[in-house]
Amino acid sequence: MAKTKAFLREFLFNNPVYDYLYMSRIRKSADAGIVKPDTLRIELTNLCNTSCIMCPRDKLTRPQGIMSNEVFERAVKQALALGIGKILFSGFGEPLIDANIVERIKYAKKSGISLVHLFSNASLMGKKIAAGLADSGLDLLVISLDATEEKRFSGIKPGLNFNGVTSNIIFLLDYLSGKNGHNPKIKVRLTGFENEIYDMRLLDQLREKGAQIVSPGLHSWSGQWEGADFSPVRLMAEKGWPCYLLWTSVTLLWDGSVSLCCKDFNCIYNFGNIKNEGLAEILQGAKLADIRRRHLERSFAGLKLCASCESVQSLLPWWRIKNAGQK
Ligand code: SF4
Repeated sequence: MAKTKAFLREFLFNNPVYDYLYMSRIRKSADAGIVKPDTLRIELTNLCNTSCIMCPRDKLTRPQGIMSNEVFERAVKQALALGIGKILFSGFGEPLIDANIVERIKYAKKSGISLVHLFSNASLMGKKIAAGLADSGLDLLVISLDATEEKRFSGIKPGLNFNGVTSNIIFLLDYLSGKNGHNPKIKVRLTGFENEIYDMRLLDQLREKGAQIVSPGLHSWSGQWEGADFSPVRLMAEKGWPCYLLWTSVTLLWDGSVSLCCKDFNCIYNFGNIKNEGLAEILQGAKLADIRRRHLERSFAGLKLCASCESVQSLLPWWRIKNAGQK
């Protein structure tokens, strides 16, 4: 399956007719302002309780902290006003360090956000937090487990307790199976280092209890992480299509700054701060417009992060984006 996909991708990349038609469609959708942001990524905190070997967090140069209520509530209200219906709590920290996490999920859902996703390492998900998350209205919880055996786990996620994390996950899954009403979907994520061996008994147990096992693969954080044992796909600078994230997703950091995307962990591209101006104003700003234009012209060379990006986001066909191509 992976080989077929890779073959198809290469075929499409190298097919001039497809390329022409695809770019025409992208330009048409982008120029007409049809594709609009539908997702807000919120970094509730950039504090973390581990230092995973595939995370470039040790290169963070910006201040560390937790988002204030004022910034959070402003972000949710302004996102809704822009028609954004999905919030991902992710970023460069462990969101469960934020003591208000459950209240914040409830606030987003009560305010009208239809999909709320949370990414966590589950190490701080004790029984009370697990029950709180299960009952909060959360739609999806992605748990980064990354290994299925204690020694390998400690090597990847120093300082975290493997047995504690797996017990937390199992408690949550059991809690969910015993309750009615809206339950979040649970995905357990394995990073996918090459030649990694997993304990299938644990994975089968998690599957049987209702979790889905996913393995998204590694990337280089747009050339900012060198921990190499993976096969990169083609880089944007070599040949990429415009990255749909620039049109569909907004990345908000804990201090209220709006950055380029999930890979811009040091906020190299700071488009503005919602403490000082509205989200709508920030998204209409000249800085973002210039980067979008350069993507549409496919001149990635001067764009520090995008040029070194593995172009994964540009591979998603624009016609799969919900609001693309509408009149
Ligand atoms: S191309 Fe890569 S670095 Fe640029 S906006 Fe998209 S995901 Fe971010």
